[in-house]
Amino acid sequence: MKALDATQLYFNRAADHLELPASSRRLLVTAKREVQVQIPVEMDDGRLETYLGYRVQHNDSRGPMKGGLRYHPEVDLNEVRALAALMTWKTAVVNLPYGGAKGGIAIDPSVLSPGEIERITRKFVDEIHDFVGPNNDIPAPDMGTDSQVMAWYMNQYQKYHGFNPACVTGKPVEMYGAPGREEATGRGVGILCLKLLGRLGRKPPQTRVVIQGFGNVGSHTAWFLNKAECSVVAVSDKFGGYYRPEGLDVPAMVRYANNNRGTLQGYKDAQPITNEQLMELDCEVLIPAAIGGAITEHNVKKIKAPIIIEGANNPTYPEADDVLTAEGRTVLPDILANAGGVTVSYFEWAQNRQYYQWTLNRVRQELDVVLSQAFEAVWEMAQQRQTSLRTAAYILGIGRVSRAAALAGIM
Ligand code: NAD
Repeated sequence: MKALDATQLYFNRAADHLELPASSRRLLVTAKREVQVQIPVEMDDGRLETYLGYRVQHNDSRGPMKGGLRYHPEVDLNEVRALAALMTWKTAVVNLPYGGAKGGIAIDPSVLSPGEIERITRKFVDEIHDFVGPNNDIPAPDMGTDSQVMAWYMNQYQKYHGFNPACVTGKPVEMYGAPGREEATGRGVGILCLKLLGRLGRKPPQTRVVIQGFGNVGSHTAWFLNKAECSVVAVSDKFGGYYRPEGLDVPAMVRYANNNRGTLQGYKDAQPITNEQLMELDCEVLIPAAIGGAITEHNVKKIKAPIIIEGANNPTYPEADDVLTAEGRTVLPDILANAGGVTVSYFEWAQNRQYYQWTLNRVRQELDVVLSQAFEAVWEMAQQRQTSLRTAAYILGIGRVSRAAALAGIM
């Protein structure tokens, strides 16, 4: 099953609970605008390459549309559509005044030079600047993009519309970024993991955690949970995994990756394993924090973790989700679990509009407040409706979006 089918299926389950008529469903699953652009770029060796870029603006009933910009070779319009819809439900679940969007370019940034990535980014902005902007659609980092890419985006946008740092979030702190944005998604995954453990009566020191992906989300999640005294026993990146049953030295691994172009390749102080083996390890918490479709009908029966926290977007496909639910495992869904990033992006955007910068402590405290409220609301909805946390989160998000659309007279 593809990502788009999965999000639509999750949408329909919640829409059934809300008894939404077919006409409203059609409106809510249809994107407001979808754009595919051509990106011709001169490469370092003088060759001309042409790439494809996408921006899907899904829904703006609750505010300007918000969503990441992904650079990955497998980016296509269907994937971006699914991710844009997820953003609409995610911003609604955490009650931010935003709608949802997503963008991407089908490139592999690991084989491109910084200059090539900069030219591709600027050309993309040339093509989309007319229908994005601080009151309309605000990108942020996602897989394969970082604060540097956001800085180029802001500078190129400025050439058309004047200085306005609120046009993009996830910028470097010295260029109107928010302290704490870089860590926010992983920190949020960690905060929510601790909340869930508390509800399930488990203690961090007795909790073994396995994390797939050691990029922005995976590494900050590992850092936070290690500090919170969980035992992080395995992590991985696209080249493979590393396992140490008595707990990994997470700070050492973060330092290693930082000095090794972001990868753990060659790390010696743990047992090397494959990404498949990692998913099947004996542990209390499994956190997919890399790619979509990490948990499917092919591997779900081999997964042992009773708790799954979706750091990545769309990591669990519905066939596998049904198995996990039937077996009584707890899945904290992506639209809540990884919402820390968009929450701090919202703080950054609000600060940019006031030309004022909060301290790191304030960012962390407010993040905790927003995520705690969202967690409690989803937990309560699941109890009330006797559903999984995923369906509860969708009911909450879709309910808020459809009420806003109805009040605005759109449906
Ligand atoms: P990233 O590019 O910083 O890191 C991705 C990590 O996944 C890297 O360690 C990479 O080696 C690893 N990886 C890639 N392909 C893999 C594979 N086939 N098997 C195992 N590992 C693989 O990306 P990120 O920003 O950490 O994003 C990870 C996930 O989290 C994505 O699904 C993204 O949509 C989601 N997410 C990110 C943010 C954010 O703020 N960065 C916010 C919300 C959700």
